[in-house]
This record gives sequence, structure tokens and C-alpha cells, in this order.
Amino acid sequence: MIESIQTLLVDVPTIRPHKLSVATMKTQTLVLVRVLCTDGIEGWGEATTIGGLAYGEESPESVKANIDAHIAPLMLACGAKNAAQAMAQVRRAIRGNRFAKCALETALLDAEAQRLGVPLSELLGGRLRDELPVAWTLASGDTARDIAEAEQMLAARRHRIFKLKIGLRTVREDVAHSLAIKRALGDSVSVRVDVNQAWSEQEATRAIAALQDGGIDLIEQPVRAEQRGALARLAAAHAVPVMADEALTGPASAFDIARHDGADVFAIKIAQSGGLVPAAQVAAIAHTAGIGLYGGTMLEGPVGTAASAHLFATFEELAYGTELFGPLLLTEQILAEPLIYRDFMLQVPSRPGLGIQLDHDRIAALRRN
Ligand SMILES: [Mg+2]
Repeated sequence: MIESIQTLLVDVPTIRPHKLSVATMKTQTLVLVRVLCTDGIEGWGEATTIGGLAYGEESPESVKANIDAHIAPLMLACGAKNAAQAMAQVRRAIRGNRFAKCALETALLDAEAQRLGVPLSELLGGRLRDELPVAWTLASGDTARDIAEAEQMLAARRHRIFKLKIGLRTVREDVAHSLAIKRALGDSVSVRVDVNQAWSEQEATRAIAALQDGGIDLIEQPVRAEQRGALARLAAAHAVPVMADEALTGPASAFDIARHDGADVFAIKIAQSGGLVPAAQVAAIAHTAGIGLYGGTMLEGPVGTAASAHLFATFEELAYGTELFGPLLLTEQILAEPLIYRDFMLQVPSRPGLGIQLDHDRIAALRRN
């Protein structure tokens, strides 16, 4: 049974400006959710957004306000005996608020897995891998700086998959930037682009052809999320895989896209899906439809990243790896022992629950409220 639910806003500066077509981030705000159970076990969850309200409909402040005023009182009153019962109540009574639901479901499942003495991945279907490939995002906005950053990451054996954030400049400039980076890094390195919905279908048609010819491996969400027909046509027209990201908002959207051959690959995000269990359903739809999987990030800190890692570790197919680099973008550590990144992989924690230990002094020093 749940005894109390607490939400904290924690502002952490990023190591460099992170430039997307929708926003430039210099700080990431983590909404940390702590669920204390009557047996003394405490579970943690996290929600983040990208650039306040620039990316989605929820902001860190709205996540906190809606949990505090609406979702937490409902959960405390419903008398649920497990995470599934609590989340069923919440999903019945609360519209939208997928990020808030994800943070709460993560905290509940963390507590439940700790109680059972198993890693969270075992509650989510069972772990098939202990480490996950991690892409790095080059998003300084400067070609030479991005190439230097990629070379550093290769030398440090941290990343060999690079995703470029484009869509802010003209299509011609973006294509030139992407191809210059691909040429500099060579054939042994995977270079992908994320347009974050910035192009029209016509712009995308021309740009994708040029990017494909230049050796770019994957094209992420080139057109607006609601233009599912355009995304499907682009996927059909080009050999290079086209990936849905913002178009995916949970199992219903995944089913609709899959039914219309709307994308070659899904970027699965636990927050966008509305929680770990709905994200697993998105993965099942993709797997059944023969759609490739990529483990996405909402630039979560270590709590959301660990939660995502536990889920992605259960995927039978994960051909495109993950982008679970969120904690590496932050200047501050909020875990007693950081997550382990080595040899181009993130190690999935193996202790019970999320398998992480929060540093409560650091969190107290960083929290806003
Ligand atoms: Mg994306």
C-alpha cells in the first residue's frame, strides 16, 4: 500500500548547449517522484521534458502540479495493492499526462521489484541483455565542434553511433552539415539525423535522398507528428530507414502507424508511451509488425534512464540501439554510484528494483522547491 508520494524539481545544468529544432537547452529539470510504501520500501521515478513546453504538452512544473493536486491523492485513496491496480485506476480517471503517469508507474514498479528482490527488468518480461549500445547526440550547432566531439567519444570508447540534431537551419545547410560529419567520421561509424518534425514532405523527399546517398543510416521524424501519411510515403520512397518518434504517443498511435506501414523503425520512449508497461506494448506492436526498435530518451537523468534501460533490456530485437545518454549530458551526479558507460555500452543495473542508489544530499542541494 502507498503511504506517501512526494515530487521534487531538480535543475541540473547541461555540459554544453543542446540545440534542437524546437529549443536550445542549457539546463535539464528532473521531476523526481518518491513513493513511500507502508512496508517502508521506497520507489523512485522521474519525468523530464525537452525545453519546457517546446517539445510536448507537459512541462516539469505541470507534471509536479498535476501529480500533487490530482494523481497522488487519487492513488493514495484508491487502496491499490500493486502497481498494476494503481495505474489502472489512474489511467481510468486521468486523461493525458503521460509523463507524469510514467514517473509514477516507474516508482511503483521500482518499489515492487525491490520487494520481490529482482531487477525491474524481470517484472517487465525478463532481461535478454545486460548492456545496451548508446548513441551520442551531436547538437552543438557547429560542424567542426561536432566532429571534434565525436572523435573524442570514439577515442574514449563511449559512443560509435552519432545522431545529429538538424532542422533549425536551411535544408541545404543541414544536409551539408550532416554529410561533412559523416565524411569525417568514416564508414565504421553510424551517423543518423533527427529532424524533430522540421521539414515539409517536399523538403524531406529531397533531403532524405541526399542524406541516403551520403551514407546517413537513419532518418528520424522528418515531418510533423500528425502527418502520418507523409511519414509513411517517405518511408516507402527511400531505402534508408525512416523512424517515427514524436508521432508515437503510446500503443494506439503505434498500432495506427504499424497498420498503415507508417515507419520502418520506432523510437520507443517510456515517457511518450505513458509508462513502462504501455512502452512494452508499443514494442510488442513493433515486433509483431516487423518494425525495428530504437530505445529513445526524453533526456532523462539517471532514474528515468535506468528505468528505460530495464525495459529495453527485455526487447528481443533492438537493431538500432539506444540513446540513453541523458545522464552524460548533465553536470551533476544525483546517484551515489553513477550508471556505468563503457565500451560503447550502458550497463543495465542488476540490483533489485531500478538498481540505483540516490544521493539525497546532492538532491537536497539541487532541488528547486
Ligand atoms: Mg527524436
